[in-house]
Amino acid sequence: MALKALDIYKILPKKNCKECGDPTCLTFAMKLAAGKADVDLCPYLDDNAKSVLGATTRPPIRRLKIGIGERSFTVGEEFVLYRHDKTFNNPPGIMLRVSDTQSRDEIASVAARVRDETFTRVGTGLMFNGITIINSSKSPQVFAKAVETVENTADLPLVLVAETTDALAAALVHCGTYRPIIHAATRSNYREMCALAKQHGCLLVVRAPDLDDLAILAKDCAAEGVQDLLLDPAPQSLNDFIVRSTAIRQLAITRTVPDLGYPVYLDAARNALRDAYLALGIVKYASVIICDPLSPEATKASLTLRQNIYTDPQKPIQMNPGIYRIGSPAKDAPVLLTVNFSLTFFTLEGYLESSRIPCFMFIIDTEGLSVLTAVASGKFSETLVRDAIKKFGLENEVSHRTLIIPGYAAPLSGRIEETTGWKVMVGPRDAADIGEFLHEEWKQ
Ligand code: SF4
Repeated sequence: MALKALDIYKILPKKNCKECGDPTCLTFAMKLAAGKADVDLCPYLDDNAKSVLGATTRPPIRRLKIGIGERSFTVGEEFVLYRHDKTFNNPPGIMLRVSDTQSRDEIASVAARVRDETFTRVGTGLMFNGITIINSSKSPQVFAKAVETVENTADLPLVLVAETTDALAAALVHCGTYRPIIHAATRSNYREMCALAKQHGCLLVVRAPDLDDLAILAKDCAAEGVQDLLLDPAPQSLNDFIVRSTAIRQLAITRTVPDLGYPVYLDAARNALRDAYLALGIVKYASVIICDPLSPEATKASLTLRQNIYTDPQKPIQMNPGIYRIGSPAKDAPVLLTVNFSLTFFTLEGYLESSRIPCFMFIIDTEGLSVLTAVASGKFSETLVRDAIKKFGLENEVSHRTLIIPGYAAPLSGRIEETTGWKVMVGPRDAADIGEFLHEEWKQ
């Protein structure tokens, strides 16, 4: 049962010394209650207080940083089962798989793909996260060569999968201080795997098909001194994965089984229904997903799905209001007014760019609402337009006084003209028609 901020405050030393980085004990208590701070930050807590607070205030799913540097990413620190309760925080890392039996060129080409491939959606660059190297050859030397090839090609987060600690140890020599994930500790080898993980500072995957066994094994690994763990529930089918992954999330966030409070690992590549595993892994709580290199279509679909699932459903993605230029518009170029809902912005921007007519996009702050919703709710109003014209100095940017507004804002056209003094042209409802509209209607 989680403690409330005031209950936590009662346990804190109340020195208000700021050594935890917060101005007062009460603000620290509020952060602990929200799972945004660690009890270890307060140096004045005794072991008993730390254990009481730690058990109830640490994020129920451990936060892990995978890799180092620019391409590192964070997983875990999730609090809810459903994203409409509160947003999911840390999107899963998708790690493309290579086998050490592939040629060096093939391995390097997958690593280069993960290093370089990106596509932009609603203003964000979407990429895969890293490489998984499988020791299919069973040879430590061949495995080490494959890891060396990846390391020489790209500086990326890694997962190393081998059945023996000898193979992992040979490969880890090539990883420097990179902290790869190593797979996997089982009941029979966990002590050796923990020793290896500690020696190289690795994150360790714990694998068991039964959740009770998985929890006990995770507890045993933590007792060996390895706490940066991921859980592989070894699913045998899609249904198996959903059941086990959902149970882990539920038992972890309710703190019913704290030993399951670690991010979930999913190998989607071993299965014939690879794309379905990948999609379900994104939706149902996997934090690190292994998959084979995907087609361009499947790449876009999976990265888009991940972006959608890991946006806050209560906060539309917004653009900063202001004036944006398409091409190099002259002073007589058209001005297209629209809302700051990012999907509207990027959709319109794409069509304007393909129209090849230099112009200005004039973005007003409707708190991220779409045109239709903003008009219906009164967030898109004539006074908002008037104030935005003044605030962003639109008069100084253009030599004319004409605004093109979205078709769905047509009911406001008269009021905008009266309030701003600018002439209003009503544009099309569908952004796809904007190029044709400008070619036919824009004459200054
Ligand atoms: S370090 Fe401890 S005593 Fe000092 S302000 Fe923070 S919580 Fe209070």
